[in-house]
Amino acid sequence: MCSVHDGPGSWGEVGTQFDHADVVSPDDAERLLADLTFNVADNLWPDELTDPWPLCTLHGDHPLNPRFAAGKAAWVCLRDPKVTIPVGGLGGQ
Ligand SMILES: [Zn+2]
Repeated sequence: MCSVHDGPGSWGEVGTQFDHADVVSPDDAERLLADLTFNVADNLWPDELTDPWPLCTLHGDHPLNPRFAAGKAAWVCLRDPKVTIPVGGLGGQ
């Protein structure tokens, strides 16, 4: 479950079908993270009210998209597969 807040206001919550009793491999964990990140970006992010984020580090004129790529949850550029940044790796970008 992921709950997104902006100060006292809540944007909402999204979750996955993960259960604590499930045996989760590292690959499964990355897929769960990719699904959760996609769900937040697709269903909670108010993109009609904000500037595009996160901006593509190569092109700078469009947002990156969350995907499961090369075995990792990542932000990717849909125009250039070389731009693949692990979820959590954007730092101050
Ligand atoms: Zn790009």
